[in-house]
Amino acid sequence: MTEKAPRSGANDRALSPRTLAVQAMGSVDPTTKAIVMPLHMATTYVRDPDNQYRSGFSYGRPHNATVREAEAVLATLEGAAGALLFGSGMAAISAVFQAFEAGDHIIAPEVTYTGSRNWLRDEAKRRGLTFARVDTSDLNALQKAVKSGPTKLLWLETPGNPLWTVTDIAAAAKIAHAAGAKLGVDSTVATPVLTNPLALGADIVMHSATKYLNGHSDVVAGALAFAKRDALFERLEAIRTIYGGVLGPFEAFLLIRGMRTLHLRVEAQCRTAMFLAENLASHASVTRVLYPGLPSHPNHDVARRQMRGGFSGMLSIAVRGGEARAIATAARVKVWKRATSLGGVESLIEHRASVEGEGTPCPPDVLRLSVGLEDPQDLLADLDQALTGE
Ligand SMILES: *Cc1c(COP(=O)(O)O)cnc(C)c1O
Repeated sequence: MTEKAPRSGANDRALSPRTLAVQAMGSVDPTTKAIVMPLHMATTYVRDPDNQYRSGFSYGRPHNATVREAEAVLATLEGAAGALLFGSGMAAISAVFQAFEAGDHIIAPEVTYTGSRNWLRDEAKRRGLTFARVDTSDLNALQKAVKSGPTKLLWLETPGNPLWTVTDIAAAAKIAHAAGAKLGVDSTVATPVLTNPLALGADIVMHSATKYLNGHSDVVAGALAFAKRDALFERLEAIRTIYGGVLGPFEAFLLIRGMRTLHLRVEAQCRTAMFLAENLASHASVTRVLYPGLPSHPNHDVARRQMRGGFSGMLSIAVRGGEARAIATAARVKVWKRATSLGGVESLIEHRASVEGEGTPCPPDVLRLSVGLEDPQDLLADLDQALTGE
């Protein structure tokens, strides 16, 4: 169906994930030789006269070539045996939780995306799942929380939104596997550029592809990538088909385009985030900068070991004067956009406690910053005028 480029270059040297992502696996359309693969919108496929479906494609919900192309790129980026795309990050996370049975116990992080927190709070009980929240960056606390036997899933988010708590994935994998549990990692913020959780022992890595993978604030999508094509992979593929939380082909097409520039974008965003973190750390109106790249961050050492080439494009700042002053600061920005979400090319600022509501570990004086691709000096100057303005 598609013409694949060789996976190796000169002297059979294996091509890096970066090269494969930039060229979207090097596929060329066999009919026209187009360098960009056509977008497959068909919802159904013709059956062979003898009643077979030899193409492997029968109906649009389980089978779409554009979605599979995007999955192949992501699997390569994560060094995965297979990847599955979903209609959103939450569809991917909730599919993982739903793969477990009544009576199973899940361990989840204290510092985590609101949607994951709310799913466990509101939905777990209806399905007979129990869960515990722990500070997953504290390996002793993690070990204690794993009740050998009923614990079937250890779920991490690293760096964890919105305080950028970093958890040691390799150590957590040992704890999970010793207890006979699976390890899943929401790696949305790290991206495959900075961390590959599967190589560190995780069984599943999850992404809100809405964020860095697509990177242009114009697609909602979610992804899971798997260490093995085992029973867990098959169960999640079945859940996707049967509950129907699939990704549309146009979204998959845009996602392929986004992933072509993933490395370039993330590397630039990391550099600018570090520049801002270092400058804001000494700003008179900022009491604290939360960024894993700063030696002052409580998990800096783990981050240095686990993240390569940067510490992500996300940071948070605590504003001197408290909540009202933080909200007023966000009100004064001109270049930064006052909006939720993250990982796009445009920089976003948000008073996170307002979004997260009750039970959030996010202090009220904190602003969350998603660093985009604008000129770093423009971003710093805008924050400076917003922080010092009246
Ligand atoms: C946005 C986000 C999600 C949820 O993804 P959606 O695509 O919005 O459903 C999950 N985890 C993290 C870390 C996120 O930032």
